[in-house]
Amino acid sequence: MSEMNTLNIKHLEEYCSTHTKPMNPILNEMREWTLKNCEAPQMMVGNLEGKLLQLLVTLIGAWKVLEIGTFTGYSTLCMAEAVGPGSRITTIDINQRTSEMAAEFVSRAGYADRVRFIVGPAVDILPEMNERFDLVFIDADKTNYDNYFEMVLPKVRRGGLILFDNMLWSGGVLNPESPEDHALNNLNRKLTEDPRVDNFLLPLRDGIQIVQKLARDESW
Ligand code: SAH
Ligand code: CA
Repeated sequence: MSEMNTLNIKHLEEYCSTHTKPMNPILNEMREWTLKNCEAPQMMVGNLEGKLLQLLVTLIGAWKVLEIGTFTGYSTLCMAEAVGPGSRITTIDINQRTSEMAAEFVSRAGYADRVRFIVGPAVDILPEMNERFDLVFIDADKTNYDNYFEMVLPKVRRGGLILFDNMLWSGGVLNPESPEDHALNNLNRKLTEDPRVDNFLLPLRDGIQIVQKLARDESW
């Protein structure tokens, strides 16, 4: 991509951001803290993506939400703001320290009662969960995305959404080399061909697969 293109995309994203309703100011604090204290702060969703998560949550009236990959809680707090009182967000992460930070921010924002934090490897935790979800946001280790998809699909209600972040992997999916490039490229193809779901790969930021469980078969 030429420098000019990169500049334009950055400026256009900034313009979109300034012309989108602002969110909870604690999110800005969270971003600052993460940028200062964490090794890979770019893992955090951007504010436009955070706003999109909120919109999708409200559009489908999501009441039960599952997140795989809490990190410092930016996306968790975005969704916690959007779900109504009495709703429940369950968020899983393998990292105890960042999960504790996330819990502190979520609590300061006043949403402690609607977020449950689980620490551990998601592949071990998911089979233990006997719940139905309206929306699942997947944003943890990329080589496990397909496993997460198969594990959560039966738990999602018909018409519910599964969202996958970073599905363009900074363009790595175009000429796959690393295990992540291959895993995400294979999953993009699989989702597009999978009759159990509808899907739309949105080229916002690093690419978000918006996947909807189809209503054809109750056993799915
Ligand atoms: N959704 C977050 C960013 C998540 S970053 C946000 O927008 O702010 C990815 C997270 O996945 C990291 O915090 C990492 O600890 C977690 N992770 C990596 N491998 C994991 C695994 N096997 N099980 C659960 N979490 C994992
Ligand atoms: Ca991400």
